[in-house]
Amino acid sequence: MESEGRTTAEEGCLSIPEIYGDVTRAERVVLEALDREGRPFRLEAGGLTARAIQHEIDHLDGILFLDHLGLMKRRVLLARWKREHKDDTSYLKEVQPATARPE
Ligand SMILES: [Zn+2]
Repeated sequence: MESEGRTTAEEGCLSIPEIYGDVTRAERVVLEALDREGRPFRLEAGGLTARAIQHEIDHLDGILFLDHLGLMKRRVLLARWKREHKDDTSYLKEVQPATARPE
């Protein structure tokens, strides 16, 4: 609902283990949500809690912390990650976009 301040800190994510990058986020946030019984509540948070809330809300919107980095930084980190995990097929699966078939 509200945010203020800007702060930069290193982040990582269990969705992409072993990659870290500096992400700038709001220093304080105010959110309104529903608890597990569906009752609305309001929370004001700062510090690591505010950072974690913004990180997780990003996930709900389909955004990874990598999307906050510059294009070159993102490419360098992903290239290094792929190189370090090239023999580990359980983590990374590259897919090619479907191509139109001639009829
Ligand atoms: Zn995450």
